[in-house]
Amino acid sequence: MRTCIGCRQRAAKRELLRVVAGSDATTGGPVALPDPDGTAPGRGAHLHPVTECYELAVRRKAFARALRLAAGKGEGSPAHRWVTTSPRDSNSTDRPEKKLEQQLMSTR
Ligand SMILES: [Zn+2]
Repeated sequence: MRTCIGCRQRAAKRELLRVVAGSDATTGGPVALPDPDGTAPGRGAHLHPVTECYELAVRRKAFARALRLAAGKGEGSPAHRWVTTSPRDSNSTDRPEKKLEQQLMSTR
């Protein structure tokens, strides 16, 4: 069991998205990266892969605490994009993360 850093509820690890601290591909700055396979090394945090929990985590500055990212670094991060394009609440047809979604689906 892991605790979601957004809503603070406990859930099975497979129901949560692991997020790790990483470097932004363009700026090199620290950002929250999605780690759906749970294999990335280093400091990680878990949250439900839904927009609500992501935004809660940003508001609680949970990324700053859990990943040692500067406050506010959560918005617009790769993890944020991953969460907002997850199957549950996306109606977009432009989904570059399709492969990740399929991987996630296949492990359910
Ligand atoms: Zn949650």
